[in-house]
Amino acid sequence: MPENLMDKLVSLCKRRGFIFQSSEIYGGVGSVWDYGPLGAELKKNIKERWWRSMVHERDDIEGLDAAILMHPKVWEASGHVAGFTDPLVDCKQCKNRFRADDPRLKGTPGEPDARCPVCGNKGTLTAPRMFNLMFKTFMGPVEEAAAVVYLRPETAQGIYVNYLNVLQSSRQKIPFGIAQIGKAFRNEITPGNFTFRTREFEQMEMQFFVKPGDDGKWFEFWKHERLKWLHDLGIRPEKLRFHQHGKDELAHYAKDAYDIQYEFPFGWQEFEGIHNRTDFDLSRHQQYSGKKLDYLDPATNERFVPYVVETSAGADRTTLVAMLDAYHEEELEGEKRVVLRFKPALAPIKAAVFPLVNKDGMPEVAKRLYDDLRRRFNVFYDDGGSIGRRYRRQDEAGTPFGITVDGQSIQDQTVTVRERDTLKQERVAAAQLDDYLAGRLAS
Ligand SMILES: [Zn+2]
Repeated sequence: MPENLMDKLVSLCKRRGFIFQSSEIYGGVGSVWDYGPLGAELKKNIKERWWRSMVHERDDIEGLDAAILMHPKVWEASGHVAGFTDPLVDCKQCKNRFRADDPRLKGTPGEPDARCPVCGNKGTLTAPRMFNLMFKTFMGPVEEAAAVVYLRPETAQGIYVNYLNVLQSSRQKIPFGIAQIGKAFRNEITPGNFTFRTREFEQMEMQFFVKPGDDGKWFEFWKHERLKWLHDLGIRPEKLRFHQHGKDELAHYAKDAYDIQYEFPFGWQEFEGIHNRTDFDLSRHQQYSGKKLDYLDPATNERFVPYVVETSAGADRTTLVAMLDAYHEEELEGEKRVVLRFKPALAPIKAAVFPLVNKDGMPEVAKRLYDDLRRRFNVFYDDGGSIGRRYRRQDEAGTPFGITVDGQSIQDQTVTVRERDTLKQERVAAAQLDDYLAGRLAS
């Protein structure tokens, strides 16, 4: 993989309208990104696919859309107020802030020998202090301690506090799960690598509630299912691997945890996790809320607090993985061709319609075809520039099919369909294009 693949992708994302830096005209805001026309479609396709496989195609999982703002006690119960912290070091001179494990820090912060890696002063670094990663704000008109609320640092807690509501209203029985897609916020100190580590991000999480003792079996089941889902997304299997958390990596609530890692240009990194969270969260919410959250098994009359097996994926990271994995460069007729080889079902634009030239009735036929197809697919009409340039633009957008209306189309009502990856062209009857595309896009 070329070393500057990230730079190439960032540049393509801006050029074609996948991802822009937030508030760019003001110089940008740190590690926050906006999805442009193509990026919004790509991310939406990934989220819809996740929702379909997790919620619609399963009888034992229900969907939820919980609010970002929650009762502040939630975050005491979850352990985030006390434990969701990083040790940080401040420079009293230049006001920069560093993680205590930043390799650039030399000497012992808080002692006179330590040197600030930014301003170079000696003895200006404070001893490490704990810093909470949750974004804080105020609810209501008064900015006082009693009014503090947090932007949720994970979507999971919205599922836990609604566990009984969903269980009772959906008439599910354990084992069953609750799935949710939503934004979460973490005030990361060392964010970076484009959309890999951002302060605002979107999660696709599913909490599966099981009988204690069955957790190991379900953990294996979900590990397998999630990897299969990623293969089905078209991600190259050799770029994916599991990483089991060692004792020192396990979160305070976890009994077992596996990351699914992708080989990014900056190394193997996590973009999804499967966690055995035991009964930690529900037990804590039971304790902090004073409300019973145990389950009465109708078959055995046993009462228990369910264990939770969680699958937690980043929508932004999965989108980044999909783009990196699809990125290809090749030589074509002596020129460089950049192509995003998305699985057709993921592609932001499914097909582009081109009149070969802007005369001889071709634009009229092409427009009609475009109007027909757009009722069913996200298609794009382009009559600007040479046909070669129009193909190149769609290659960079990852559009799987190019449909050209030429002179022959006027005679016999057929069009050429060009495949993005193989560059093969075939003639298809215009009247059958609808079904042709539906078939090719089904996977
Ligand atoms: Zn400094």
